[in-house]
Amino acid sequence: MAVGRLSTVRRRAARSFALLAGCALVSLAGPVTAQAQDGPPKPVVLHCPALLDSVAGKMLGPTSVVIQGERVVEVVPGTVTRADAEVVDLAGETCLPGLIDAHVHISSEFSPTVYSDMLHFNLADWVVRSTVWAKRTLLGGFTTVRNLGDSHYETVALRDQINKGWVPGPRILTAGPAIGSTGGHADDGDGLRMDLQPDVGAHDSIINGTADAWKAVREHYKQNVDTIKIMTTGGVLDLSGSVDNSQLTEEETKALVTAAHEYGYIVGVHAHGAEGIRRAVVAGADSIEHGTFMDAQDMKLMKEHGTYYVPTIYTGTYVTEKAKGNPHAYPPAVQAKALLVGPQLMKTVGDAYKAGVKFAYGTDAGVYPHGENWKDFPLLVQVGMPAIYTLQMATINAATLLKKDKDIGSVAAGKYADIVAVPGDPTKDITLMGKVDFVMKGGIVFKKGGAEQVFTSTAH
Ligand SMILES: [Zn+2]
Repeated sequence: MAVGRLSTVRRRAARSFALLAGCALVSLAGPVTAQAQDGPPKPVVLHCPALLDSVAGKMLGPTSVVIQGERVVEVVPGTVTRADAEVVDLAGETCLPGLIDAHVHISSEFSPTVYSDMLHFNLADWVVRSTVWAKRTLLGGFTTVRNLGDSHYETVALRDQINKGWVPGPRILTAGPAIGSTGGHADDGDGLRMDLQPDVGAHDSIINGTADAWKAVREHYKQNVDTIKIMTTGGVLDLSGSVDNSQLTEEETKALVTAAHEYGYIVGVHAHGAEGIRRAVVAGADSIEHGTFMDAQDMKLMKEHGTYYVPTIYTGTYVTEKAKGNPHAYPPAVQAKALLVGPQLMKTVGDAYKAGVKFAYGTDAGVYPHGENWKDFPLLVQVGMPAIYTLQMATINAATLLKKDKDIGSVAAGKYADIVAVPGDPTKDITLMGKVDFVMKGGIVFKKGGAEQVFTSTAH
């Protein structure tokens, strides 16, 4: 359902620039510190009146969380402190592990001018904006995101510069550009004038055949992505006609998933139609994104294969409501598809939960404004999920899907000190998830008492 990637013409221009600048040849790996400190950092103790135990799926009473540097060292019942520790009293708050959104597009955002912007903006324009979108996401309490589709690997750079402490933002696991087929949801040429439609191939993440599938995954590995995104069916926001047709063969799907797994990547699959979902699940994909027209057979297969469902439920409703409210909200082809998905997705998500499919939280933010990633929570409750399960989706379940549960997803000794807080009990009022007023990522406080903290980059 992503906003289309930028045009290949501009991607090629951006690539030339990167090569001129020599960027492609230099590894930028470095330490993960947002703010350098002199000497060993003082321990910090958070006093939480309540804390979500995301693993057990229950709320704990008063708890102290002891943090040293970027990691939690101890989680202790009651209100305790440690010698020399700085105490942060979160009276009236409920603490939660830093939230995880397993489906965002952090370097784009839909707007009424987005289709023409794609013809006028340079990649750099989007990248500058992405630093703002990254900060909004973090201040909304989302300390980790999986970015499922960008234009030209720009989110690899964003990830690296956030990790180095140049700009504030969430931990990013990025897929780079999504991989699809000619004319499919990943093909930027759809709907353009014919002379603006270059014949793109595996190098541009457009595949036809199994050899291309391997080449595209290997290209992603070369560009240092963290994960892979493929598109087995049509989507909503591209300018082609079908939202649910199959756009990768069984063999292509199997080749993509096999290649990705061979390189150690998990695979998130954009799929609305039942057949495209089936092909992805049978191929061994790790998560189905959207899943709008998922049928009972798909649900059964997902349970058998342990496939996660990342429903992006608010996005479905958002595009449908926009299309209903304004006949010109989207181009005509998109308008028709947008009207279809919202109510269907609500029904499917409720049915899949009842059927026992396991879920991880993911929003498709970028289709709607970044920073509002919390808006899936109330809809998930509305279709029948317990509030505490939705919180597990956005913490331990998403961390497990991303294979990062050793580092994130719960507040526990040894994990990153990624901790957020809301003013009250979100299991009684899920809309409190829209009021995150404390955000700590890697031991650094980015928001406190509802106020953004001054971020001073000491990176050099
Ligand atoms: Zn998406």
